[in-house]
Amino acid sequence: MMLRLVSLDCPSCGSALRGEGLDTIFFCDHCGDAATLGEDGLEMVESAALVPAAGRAARTWRPAWLIETEVTVSERIRHRGRRSDGWQEPRTFVIPAFEIPLGDLTRIARALSEVIGETREVPREPIHGGTLSIDDAVTLIRHLVIGDEVRKSDMLASVMVDIEVIGSRLVALPFEPTSVGLRCSITGVTVRPQG
Ligand SMILES: [Zn+2]
Repeated sequence: MMLRLVSLDCPSCGSALRGEGLDTIFFCDHCGDAATLGEDGLEMVESAALVPAAGRAARTWRPAWLIETEVTVSERIRHRGRRSDGWQEPRTFVIPAFEIPLGDLTRIARALSEVIGETREVPREPIHGGTLSIDDAVTLIRHLVIGDEVRKSDMLASVMVDIEVIGSRLVALPFEPTSVGLRCSITGVTVRPQG
């Protein structure tokens, strides 16, 4: 396996940030701040951690985007050209930013976005890096919303979905390792990390 070791300094406190492979998302285990690596170098991003559900523990942490949006669904056309009402509402999504199979990603993102729970300060513990850009996270949100509309089983033929990003943060997500992968300590959903 090829591993590229990235050595970068935290823009906030100067501590070394550690990453692996193609990581572009980093949490500093010294000060808790988060940064993304783009073409212009490291850029700080507001950060927080999500709190495990009662009775569950945080044994390991993985990164996710917490994105506040205004979702607009319009031009909703049903079978035989019938129009149905669109809608607009503020919604908050949590999209894991580390590599897992797409099926796992949509399952856990859907579950997390329904029970986000509370946020707290980022723990001063190692938090794994991530690779999913915010643009790709917003693309996934669009797919989730379209998927929900299609599931309404009214023979949807076409739809317009607009996702306006109001705010975004990087959050540390708590997990417990199991024999098959990582179980989310908020939703109980198990995912299989890759790489
Ligand atoms: Zn730092």
